[in-house]
Amino acid sequence: MKTRFAPAPTGRLHVGNIRTALHNYLLSHRDGGAFLLRIDDTDAERSKEEYVEAIRADLEWLGIAPDEEARQSQRFGRYDELFEQLRAAGRIYACYETPEELEVRRKVLLGRGLPPVYERKDADAPVPEGRSPHWRFRLDHDTPIAWDDLVRGQQKFDPALISDPVIRRADGSWLYMLPSVIDDMDLGITHVVRGEDHVTNSAIQLQMFDALGAQRPYLAHEALLVAAEGKLSKRLGSVGVDEMKARGLEPMALLALLARIGTSQPVEPLASLEALSASFDFAHFGRAPAHFNMAEVEALNAKLLHATPYEAVADRLPGGIGKAEWEALHGNIAHLGEVADWLPVLQGEIDAPDIAAEDADYLHQAATIAAQLEWDDGVWAALTGALKQATGRKGKPLFLPLRLALTGQASGPEMAALLPLIGKDRALARLRRA
Ligand code: GLU
Repeated sequence: MKTRFAPAPTGRLHVGNIRTALHNYLLSHRDGGAFLLRIDDTDAERSKEEYVEAIRADLEWLGIAPDEEARQSQRFGRYDELFEQLRAAGRIYACYETPEELEVRRKVLLGRGLPPVYERKDADAPVPEGRSPHWRFRLDHDTPIAWDDLVRGQQKFDPALISDPVIRRADGSWLYMLPSVIDDMDLGITHVVRGEDHVTNSAIQLQMFDALGAQRPYLAHEALLVAAEGKLSKRLGSVGVDEMKARGLEPMALLALLARIGTSQPVEPLASLEALSASFDFAHFGRAPAHFNMAEVEALNAKLLHATPYEAVADRLPGGIGKAEWEALHGNIAHLGEVADWLPVLQGEIDAPDIAAEDADYLHQAATIAAQLEWDDGVWAALTGALKQATGRKGKPLFLPLRLALTGQASGPEMAALLPLIGKDRALARLRRA
């Protein structure tokens, strides 16, 4: 088993291609196979080194580590070799039409109610003067194309209804089609997993595998990712690692969602790629578009943090947040960065909150009682128990003024866990100044 993710370095990764990368990774890792990153940089003009680096960095941040990397721009010699071989076998031929001429032919065919399929010229048709050729792959019209797609099931194409694809431009540069097949063959790719926008390409590429005498890979074409929210739909193509970082989200929140949306399996806060990999199976994939929703990533992020043990995040926590602090806080945060917001509450100073006039005496009473208490894990229960008895308050009027005075906020983590960490001196000062 060997899979590959083959981005063109013409832009940053977005959630759509991150999902493709993830599925290729999960599939190969489930079966102990390898995952290859292939940089599709045949287009010298649009490919940028900064994007190659950004793709590597984004995958690293996500934890999707390639076992191998290949680069199309380093393999041109190999493409030339097989180009000559296929040309000698009559499977590649020269063409001379200009884009304008092709467009005219297309319109004529459509006007006659015919499919706008490229019309081959006779081999001995005169070569227009002063034009250098571009090159097409000759589809075998006599052999229907069929495969059992791992997501879409049985697929059938009539090659006579597909135009022979241009594979190489007049300047010698390569289009995507043939190099991809040569790479998949040479690099031992067993499974090609990509979006359903590539289905027709696959039909053509299967004939290329056959023409090269190569073993066909298994093919899986996934339904595309679409935005579930109106606002997001315009910019889904730009939502990627930078946005995750800006929102302070964990990589696994995105990956746990992208592993499961569009499948019949539930979206769960699974904390590792191993866990996602173990349950990865095309049998669960649907044919309808998968709906991506940032709110779901946010929700998964909170669930993941609530389940994260201290040891797993210790090296990412700010100074002052130890095991006890993490355990007090993590059930109540939506983003890891919020932990730092609690440092002043636990270990520093907070602004004096607005306390209602009717609570001032109550809080002074609380200070007097608190001063007598042993400051251990039971201090919150002891304080509120004593205050309940002394004042007859219960519920919100009992708890809320205390929370407000002690933390400066009306809501947050369990006071029972916070109060021992706030410490006696700090707590008494906050109650007294109320
Ligand atoms: N570079 C191609 C793309 O990004 C790769 C497609 C593929 O073969 O997976 O569309």
